[in-house]
Amino acid sequence: MPQIFCSVCDTPAPQPVLICLQCPETPTYYCDTRCRDRDRIPHQKNCNNPVRKAIYRAGDLLQSIFYTFREALYDTSVAHVRRNGDVLRIHLNPNPAQVLLHRFPNHLNLSQSDKEQLLSVLSCTDSVAYTCDLSKRLLKDATFGIEETLFCDLRSPFSTLRHHSDGTVDDGETMHSTLTVEAKDGEAYVFDLAGAQNNQFKAVIPFDEYCRRESRDLWKIRQHGYHFKRFEGVVAGEHKLKEQCDPSVYFISGEAQKRMMDAVGRWEAQNGMRIERLLDLDFQSYAECKASLLRKIRADLDGYVAEWEQNGRPLAAWDGIRAKYASLKEFDAKEGTVVPRGSGTRAYRTWSAKYKEGD
Ligand SMILES: [Zn+2]
Ligand SMILES: [Zn+2]
Repeated sequence: MPQIFCSVCDTPAPQPVLICLQCPETPTYYCDTRCRDRDRIPHQKNCNNPVRKAIYRAGDLLQSIFYTFREALYDTSVAHVRRNGDVLRIHLNPNPAQVLLHRFPNHLNLSQSDKEQLLSVLSCTDSVAYTCDLSKRLLKDATFGIEETLFCDLRSPFSTLRHHSDGTVDDGETMHSTLTVEAKDGEAYVFDLAGAQNNQFKAVIPFDEYCRRESRDLWKIRQHGYHFKRFEGVVAGEHKLKEQCDPSVYFISGEAQKRMMDAVGRWEAQNGMRIERLLDLDFQSYAECKASLLRKIRADLDGYVAEWEQNGRPLAAWDGIRAKYASLKEFDAKEGTVVPRGSGTRAYRTWSAKYKEGD
């Protein structure tokens, strides 16, 4: 079970947890009434703050869309999963029929948190890249800027491990891609859409809290759109990536991302509403619009996968690029790195300055 921490004293809060009933969407948790009372004055700044609400809702929407995308285009053939305390062990099938698209293992009757862990495993870069257009749109009004931030994990035990059928185990990722925004409420927030693999299930978390609670250290800051551009370059046959990975997976994901954006556009036309509007609807209308948007995206992506399974269309288009892939130059990792502007919360400023010196 994901743990919830008191926003005041930072200790794990017992369930059922105390929240501020005025702002249930921008969760502030209290372990007891004493912590709640201590926070009464400081919380007034955040309570029902429209910027904060837009930030948290954008995070919820982006994460839900990303999970929908991943579930439709799952890239791992899972035999079964086993939970040992805090660690979810994913056992992979030997010799799956294909390497690219697999049915997400809903037949395993996973709990919601196990499902999110499975959806997010090894997908932090994808989560940043494939939601790039959407995050740009949804976060435009509430923020001064968006950056892609790479954190390194200071903890040693991993929360999600992949067991191959030959007995070897992937020891997980120590680098983690997220977005960081400087919001117009004076706070910096981390958008960690694929954090569930590290037992961090929230889409949005204040920057200071993220570094402290998740034991993460900022490693690199890049322009928003960096990872998407990098993947697009692979698809266009301009460069290759350092990782040992079948490049055709980027081709399929890139096509699917376009389908997803088309689905969003058609949903907007049908409903006479841009998705940005969802950020300030009342909660009931938001929930209904979000559900119908996710259904639309899922149906279109299922259609794409069905096409792919029937005639292998994307792979045929990919063959020309695959042939020259080996001879391509590696993508220059320095490209797109930015010097932080140095505004935002004190913690983000401090981290940014530290990064600037270290570079
Ligand atoms: Zn407390
Ligand atoms: Zn409140």
